[in-house]
Amino acid sequence: MQEPNFKSIMNNISDGLYLVDINRVITFWNKTAEKITGYAAEEVVGKSCADNILTHIDSEGNALCTGLCPLAETIADGNSREAEVYLHHKDGHRIPVLVRITAITDKNGKISGGIELFSDISNRASNDLRIKELEKMAFLDHLTQMANRHYLQRELEIRFEEFKRYDLPFGILLIDIDRFKMFNDKYGHDLGDILLKAVAKTCVNNSRPFDLYGRWGGEEFIGIIRNVNHSNLKFIANRLRFLIENTYVFYNEEKIQVTVSIGATLAQADDNADSIIKRADNLLYISKNKGRNRATVG
Ligand code: GH3
Ligand code: MG
Ligand code: MG
Repeated sequence: MQEPNFKSIMNNISDGLYLVDINRVITFWNKTAEKITGYAAEEVVGKSCADNILTHIDSEGNALCTGLCPLAETIADGNSREAEVYLHHKDGHRIPVLVRITAITDKNGKISGGIELFSDISNRASNDLRIKELEKMAFLDHLTQMANRHYLQRELEIRFEEFKRYDLPFGILLIDIDRFKMFNDKYGHDLGDILLKAVAKTCVNNSRPFDLYGRWGGEEFIGIIRNVNHSNLKFIANRLRFLIENTYVFYNEEKIQVTVSIGATLAQADDNADSIIKRADNLLYISKNKGRNRATVG
């Protein structure tokens, strides 16, 4: 019987897949990994996964490459592992992935490296569809490819209807990039736009299918978070804050990042679109005053 072509099989599976040696240097990178991360095999093979390429972080904001790396743990103890982590895309934004890790052994049974399979768990298909629909209805913000202010206003009205009629709770996040004027002055408006797009993608890629993120104006975004209570809203706001803090692009070898401040609040019985935004804006102002790069939930 003919030997199966493992390389071709590994390239054609629907998961991202890469192999590392005992020192966590990448030795193979499949086609799906290229699609999910934006990095071609030539750019990553021979590099260590701690070399600022994927820089996995977990949902508590721990940097896995320099600390509790599940791949390193599996290489050390031989046990398979599974985890939900956020990896860095070449364009800057963060993508949620499910990773499964297994040790590779040599013919004597000694561990010689690891294999990591990862699948994109963002709602890529429904997000792409939403972009097309928004475009058709003139509700698309062309720079960030997210919903524009008119669409957010319309959605907020619908959410209030639902809330008042059926008691379906929701909350909003008002997100504002910190010191963005200084950023533009230092790096230029074009790089500002690139970061703005990366921040937008981190918001959209990490949202639940029934939530909506849009551009409120300038360097401000709103997230409408459905079916949420105070503690979920706080978790979502803080996770988004650190995912944005870990969103970066390279410019002349320098890692460029921004942070955001967030004001988050739940809809209340006597609210309307103006009053909920006003409250979120006051909470955002508290985040700014306390030193920025933080979320205030009230
Ligand atoms: P703060 O932390 O208080 O929010 O400071 P800030 O500098 O972000 O706030 P300010 O409101 O003073 O400035 C907002 C800046 O955002 C000014 C403007 O140049 C920049 N900005 C707004 N829209 C865009 C855009 O589409 N592209 C770029 N590159 N910059 C933008
Ligand atoms: Mg602003
Ligand atoms: Mg700002």
